[in-house]
Amino acid sequence: MRRATIALLLVLGCQRAPPELAVAPVAAQAALTGALTGAPTAVAAPTAGPTPPAVEVPPTDPAELATWITARAIIVDGHVDLPWRLRKSSTSAGVLTEDVTLATPTGDFDWPRAKAGGLDAPFMSIYVASSFEAKGAKAEAEQLIAIVEALAAAAPDKFALARSPAEVRKNSKAELISLPMGMENGAPLEGDLANVAYFHGRGIRYITLTHARDNHISDSSYDKRHTHGGLSAFGKRVVAEMNDVGIIIDVSHLSDQAFWHVMELSRAPVLATHSSCRHFTPGFERNISDEMIRALADKGGVVMINFGSGFLDGGLSLARDKHEAAIAKRLRKARIKAEHPAARSHITAYEAEHPAPRATVEQVADHIEHVITLVGIDHVGLGSDFDGVGDSLPTGLRDVSEYPNLVRVLLERGHSIQEIEKLVGGNALRVWAQVEALALAKPGPPRTP
Ligand SMILES: [Zn+2]
Repeated sequence: MRRATIALLLVLGCQRAPPELAVAPVAAQAALTGALTGAPTAVAAPTAGPTPPAVEVPPTDPAELATWITARAIIVDGHVDLPWRLRKSSTSAGVLTEDVTLATPTGDFDWPRAKAGGLDAPFMSIYVASSFEAKGAKAEAEQLIAIVEALAAAAPDKFALARSPAEVRKNSKAELISLPMGMENGAPLEGDLANVAYFHGRGIRYITLTHARDNHISDSSYDKRHTHGGLSAFGKRVVAEMNDVGIIIDVSHLSDQAFWHVMELSRAPVLATHSSCRHFTPGFERNISDEMIRALADKGGVVMINFGSGFLDGGLSLARDKHEAAIAKRLRKARIKAEHPAARSHITAYEAEHPAPRATVEQVADHIEHVITLVGIDHVGLGSDFDGVGDSLPTGLRDVSEYPNLVRVLLERGHSIQEIEKLVGGNALRVWAQVEALALAKPGPPRTP
């Protein structure tokens, strides 16, 4: 029902919204609505006929329209670190202490806030730290996958696993939040190509080839050793195997050389699941350059913008480092460890006088528009890094309830509903479907999941 409604809005809003919607007479909107849905409309129905079904008219106020859109469009977020957050806050016996089916006082994600934000499919990051390389990485990934599976099993009226774009759409129709999984760090492959298909069977639909350090697959943007000069020999085989099996290659965290190797080798489009534009953060290799954005788009891929303040604004990154150093100094003086509960009140007192420098929701829109200017609307998406970038989220996008603020800014800047529907989720689902189709088209016996 909600998907049918967005479909009609795609046409209604295919020029520039909301101004167009603001000036369109209600009767004209209703006529278009009827034409698209096949329903009789108020303007076309004869006076003596049955009462036509009520036609939903989108609000004209940008803030209200933004909420209206986020409630109807499929929102895919490329990277949410909820599994890691839940694992961190669990007891030493592994019992979860946070229930995200209810409102939680901390963290960036819970079901009520996700619903308020209109979120449909946050990719659950199966994040395996670089320190697990060759030291139990696969077992660590299993633990995190189990957390996501348990979450879906415990609240079947709220969450559901999603192994394909079709399942995401089905879940959204049923008002469920999908929990697709992406593995951040290829370390759990543990040098065995068979583990690519194994993790596909476990529900993993993208793999970020490496994380903070070079691993046995790829060099990392944060590691200056350049161990392989890009991808390792095994990493090149992993790329081919991921194409064959149907797992999306995630180029976030890769060194530039590794990125270019992927561009050369991958037969399928790829995602940068949580990277922003290097244009705004010169020298920060973790973000993606204009040249790389063009190459990624040429292959049909999508850059999913990271919301972390340091990813959005190079100047802010330095200011935030200084801010954190000042807090650390204050805690040292007070002889309190940063992780001690008493640290919180010291930090709050300091920040009351020295607010943490942070980016704004408008800057997220700037990054989105930069990608659009370079390569068009089909190659940009959202990759918040919620629950993964600490207290560095921008004003107006502090948690999963605030996607409507971003949509409002995009509406105010003249983007159409059709464009917004693509960038909040349509583009990412398209890449996922293409990767899936390429694997299914591979000749030979079907792969067992
Ligand atoms: Zn990351």
